[in-house]
Amino acid sequence: MKLKVAVIGAGVVGASIARVLSMYENFDVVLLDREPDVGWGASKANTSVIHPGHEEDPGEHPVRARLCVEGNRLWRKWVEELDIPARWPGELMLFYSEEEAQRAARYVELARLNGVPGVRMVWEEVKQIEPWVNPGAVGAVYAPTAGLVSPFEAVAAIVENAVENGVRLLAETEVRGVRVSGGEVCGVETSRGFVEADLVVNAAGLHADRVSHMAGVELDFRIKPRRGEYLLFDENVHVKPRMILHPVPTPVTKGVYAVTTVHGNLMLGPTADDLPEEEKDNLSTTEEGLSRVMEEGSRLLREVPPRDRVIRFFAGLRPEPPRGEWLIKAYDDPWGFVNVAGIRSPGLTAAPAIAGYVLELIAGEYDVRLSRKPSWNPYRVGVTSVRGKSPEEVDQLVKANPDYGAIVCRCRLVSKAEIVETVERMRRIGLERVTVDGVKFRTTAGTGWCQGQFCRWGIALIISQATGTPLHEVTVKRAGYGVGDVKVLLRGGSSC
Ligand SMILES: Cc1cc2nc3c(=O)[nH]c(=O)nc-3n(C[C@H](O)[C@H](O)[C@H](O)COP(=O)(O)OP(=O)(O)OC[C@H]3O[C@@H](n4cnc5c(N)ncnc54)[C@H](O)[C@@H]3O)c2cc1C
Repeated sequence: MKLKVAVIGAGVVGASIARVLSMYENFDVVLLDREPDVGWGASKANTSVIHPGHEEDPGEHPVRARLCVEGNRLWRKWVEELDIPARWPGELMLFYSEEEAQRAARYVELARLNGVPGVRMVWEEVKQIEPWVNPGAVGAVYAPTAGLVSPFEAVAAIVENAVENGVRLLAETEVRGVRVSGGEVCGVETSRGFVEADLVVNAAGLHADRVSHMAGVELDFRIKPRRGEYLLFDENVHVKPRMILHPVPTPVTKGVYAVTTVHGNLMLGPTADDLPEEEKDNLSTTEEGLSRVMEEGSRLLREVPPRDRVIRFFAGLRPEPPRGEWLIKAYDDPWGFVNVAGIRSPGLTAAPAIAGYVLELIAGEYDVRLSRKPSWNPYRVGVTSVRGKSPEEVDQLVKANPDYGAIVCRCRLVSKAEIVETVERMRRIGLERVTVDGVKFRTTAGTGWCQGQFCRWGIALIISQATGTPLHEVTVKRAGYGVGDVKVLLRGGSSC
């Protein structure tokens, strides 16, 4: 008999768990999210670094350390299987004094303890390894296995593949209660009615504390929002460090990073500011925070582009658990409830490994004899894009489908054909509402220099035609207002 599993939260963690469970005959998985799309929580707005694992102390956080290193290894496979944009440039943890060098040396030792390959101190050669390094840096801890992914595209790809393998996605479905009967979970109460389940996996990010309380467990557990602000520069700025640059971490944060994203933009950030517990939806940016990002970024880089080359600023919220401790646990009382809560950094890195860990936990705790699906398909192919293709290749595409020649986003060179295909894919995974942002995050249309000023209407029109939604009902973000609302258009252009 199949176990019905409800996974709450389609962030990178919940999506990865759904994908891994979909490999087995034993489970019938439904993935729920309160948002109209997947990956709109912490998984969307982060630094996008696949950490090597040398910053995790195995004495303090043994599970986190192990899953971070394993996650880094697994992502190499997942980005290939799922056609996710990624790069593996390595990273430099820069230090500026002898005293800092001594603190940084600890990370070489942690690398040894965690089995992270290739981590070593570099001194003068740091400026050869990465010419954009600030000359004030006297050396760095070099970690060659660090990588970068496109985090939103990663979640979208994982969900597409999970759905292809039998997972059912229920978006715009908020979990409001966990029903328990006779000491066992039997389902979740949602904004759209009751969803029956034998197992409930709580991967609700910032709100996982509330969901845990709904099941009557860990009643003292609280997750706090810790805000991180970012600056994203125009693709055409010449400052493009190849490697990931960051300072020696403090007990609170890994510090402001300088990265060239997988889509070729210089990005600086994040800050780390604790917000009151009730501000879990506060994604506003601050003048003070953004100035700090600029200042700390200029400690890392030989040169920082002027602020008028910033095309976007945004904030993400870390789900910060007590003592930074991830809460991953399967419960006996109520039987069938599993917490995967408080997954703060390096949660993006560890997500594929967390999914494997949760599978083992479920199998062990609930006595499930796992049986692999022979038909499970590990592969997913991304949308064919015009960008990066030679004129001859584009010619071939246009011959096959003239919509490849209709460029909708000129900054990023995204064609109508790509947008139409993306809308189809969004419908195929079960999204009822196709938003302009959903298309933007999947295709990069609207993420360039003009930030959608020119193409947003065009994208909305394609969504309208492809889905039969009246144009004024197509929304940029959540439901409630259409693209026709000028105030929303302006707001949509200036925040995340
Ligand atoms: C500023 C910042 C920088 C970071 N940088 C990195 C980095 O470089 N590398 C790294 O490895 N990690 C990084 N992280 C950490 C990483 O982003 C998170 O650990 C990871 O995204 C957590 O994923 P998640 O799926 O647990 O949470 P989320 O992505 O937040 O997903 C939770 C989902 O649950 C849904 N949900 C919540 N409540 C309900 C409900 N009641 N019903 C239905 N659905 C619900 C939400 O809508 C959301 O989609 C960073 C985080 C931040 C904020």
